[in-house]
Amino acid sequence: MKVNDFTGMFSRTSLTIDSIENPHDDYHVITFDYPEGLNWDSGEHGMFTLPGKKVTGRSFRIFSIASSPSENKLFIATHANEPVSSFKQTLFSLSKGDTVNMLGPFGWYKVKDSTSPIVMIAAGIGITPNRAMIKQLEHDTRRDVFLVYSSSDTHLFKEELDSIALNNPKFHPYYTTGRDQTRETYLKLADTLGNDAIYYVAGTPKSVKDISKRLRDNNVKFTHIVFDPYFGY
Ligand SMILES: Cc1cc2nc3c(=O)[nH]c(=O)nc-3n(C[C@H](O)[C@H](O)[C@H](O)COP(=O)(O)OP(=O)(O)OC[C@H]3O[C@@H](n4cnc5c(N)ncnc54)[C@H](O)[C@@H]3O)c2cc1C
Repeated sequence: MKVNDFTGMFSRTSLTIDSIENPHDDYHVITFDYPEGLNWDSGEHGMFTLPGKKVTGRSFRIFSIASSPSENKLFIATHANEPVSSFKQTLFSLSKGDTVNMLGPFGWYKVKDSTSPIVMIAAGIGITPNRAMIKQLEHDTRRDVFLVYSSSDTHLFKEELDSIALNNPKFHPYYTTGRDQTRETYLKLADTLGNDAIYYVAGTPKSVKDISKRLRDNNVKFTHIVFDPYFGY
């Protein structure tokens, strides 16, 4: 982490909702009108509040920006566990033209160099910052990018990820459903790539802690692991 990773946290942007979609099960994708002049790095996140709305409990949530600036789009995605929180119920009830506030974007979870192979390990909705980085690297054929994407239900964005893989032979997505299968897949990659690669791990704090410990037990150096623990889950 560098000081630069946090400079964006002091800027506030009002975002206007373009659409709220519910593509699968309890997953929601919220797209905003593209805010001209807003800069961010793929993988960063923002702190969102709902101005003028009454929310019980915590009045903010942090969401990763799931899109890359190269797409000229800004959207976030979330999974609403039962019971759906007051914040998310209110967010999902908003309509096109309503506004939310975002502090940021900021964060440390971003592409670190232009040559190292990348292994992304995304647990569930932890796909969001990885999707943004994969879009950034969509046409990059200089290094291999591996995605180990575990989900016990839906693999959000799967069709899109498959289409990127069809066009870029250096992008290798693996979709897993169980803990053992996920572990076996990323540990095999760690065995092959070792400390030549950079490992990006995003998901619940518990899953991030477990995965990074297993990587370190398999001789991956701490400095080669980038974490995005979704505190709050
Ligand atoms: C850097 C970062 C990036 C993040 N990016 C994303 C992202 O892209 N997408 C995303 O969805 N989230 C992301 N998060 C997490 C997000 O900020 C929220 O914490 C998360 O979505 C949970 O919010 P919630 O409103 O659903 O649950 P909360 O109300 O915050 O509750 C937390 C958990 O407790 C459970 N719970 C709450 N009340 C009860 C109850 N009465 N009984 C049983 N269970 C209960 C909920 O189901 C939930 O799983 C990120 C967090 C960080 C720190």
